[in-house]
Amino acid sequence: MSKILGIIGGGQLGMMLTEAAQNMKEEISKVIVLDPTENCPAAKVGAEQIIADFKDEESIKKLSELSDIITYEIESGNSDVLKKLEANTEINPSPETLRIIQDKFLQKQFLQENGIAVAEFEKVENREELEKMIEKLGLPLLLKTRRDAYDGRGNYKINTKSDIDDALDLFTGKTLMVEKFVNFQKEVSVIAARNTKGEISTYPVVENLHENNILRMTIAPGRVSENVRKEAEDVAHKTMEVLHGAGVFGIEMFVTQDEKILINEIAPRVHNSGHHTLQSSTISQFELHLRAILGMELGDTSIKSPTIMYNILGPHTFKGEYNVLHREEENIFLKMYGKLESKPQRKIGHINIVDKKNVGIEGLLLQVEDLKNNLVIKPK
Ligand code: ATP
Ligand code: MG
Repeated sequence: MSKILGIIGGGQLGMMLTEAAQNMKEEISKVIVLDPTENCPAAKVGAEQIIADFKDEESIKKLSELSDIITYEIESGNSDVLKKLEANTEINPSPETLRIIQDKFLQKQFLQENGIAVAEFEKVENREELEKMIEKLGLPLLLKTRRDAYDGRGNYKINTKSDIDDALDLFTGKTLMVEKFVNFQKEVSVIAARNTKGEISTYPVVENLHENNILRMTIAPGRVSENVRKEAEDVAHKTMEVLHGAGVFGIEMFVTQDEKILINEIAPRVHNSGHHTLQSSTISQFELHLRAILGMELGDTSIKSPTIMYNILGPHTFKGEYNVLHREEENIFLKMYGKLESKPQRKIGHINIVDKKNVGIEGLLLQVEDLKNNLVIKPK
């Protein structure tokens, strides 16, 4: 029987989940999203919308009453409220998994307890503890907010003791942790899924390039050694075994100078570094997520054509949509998110550049450079 799907969050991830659901009419009859922004990206492509804050208890309850199955596209949902609703409505990934992941300290502790390698870390509750950790772990260190961080906004790199005041001032009132700064060789990620029957599947490891802490480009598959590829995919597999709950997870990792894998963080949802799957694979990460939470077979997650995903960031503060003009080629796929408000560095769309002519990653990178140089982003 066809189900009604409720999604907490209706941004671009909710939008692409909605589009995937619209191609699964037999399984999903309707999508309802909960999002505070009127006419959010998911609503623009046909999802019904409850306009409310992600953490609003009454609205989450209402969503659960209207839905057969609930999932989320953000990790800042209210896991306590979701736990209470779990008895009546199926929720995936499970609220307990969300509770652990949405607190970076609990997440790292959980990984460490399960024998999965992470950078050295500790929670810090005051200046004294921070100073103690600087003595213990050495500098540089990253001071991180434990919750509600995105695009690196909850991170402060402490290079010298004179940075302590500024770092603590920036995060007044937040719960914090520190982490040893990893002088990584590369950042990679694995998009992994587990269905409600316990079947696990991963896409090949990809390489992520950041600028100003924001993901700028994903190269799929990543240019890594066979050892690193295997290790990253094994770590992702192991992580999925210990995490309960079903769905797609984005697992961000560092490759250290000596080719070891450390998990940076896990997102309990579809992930920006999985957008390439819209063109590179037969099953996109959005469809995979729906298949996972519906208990369907996961299917083929191989990469059919190497692809580079390039994020389009808002050029300036603007109310209204942007148009993106780019060189038209048959291997270039533009996806705009229909956001009605933009700020500098806000993700407003992405472009997938697919290797249809066997030019290889180096060839695709040249095409990306050309595309970037000729991209025009202007108000609609
Ligand atoms: P996102 O950027 O994925 O939205 P976020 O804001 O929660 O997530 P993190 O993923 O913790 O932030 O960090 C953002 C970036 O900062 C990482 O992708 C990485 O480049 C850098 N970073 C984070 N932790 C470390 C570390 N321990 N050592 C070195 N660099 C780090
Ligand atoms: Mg991150």
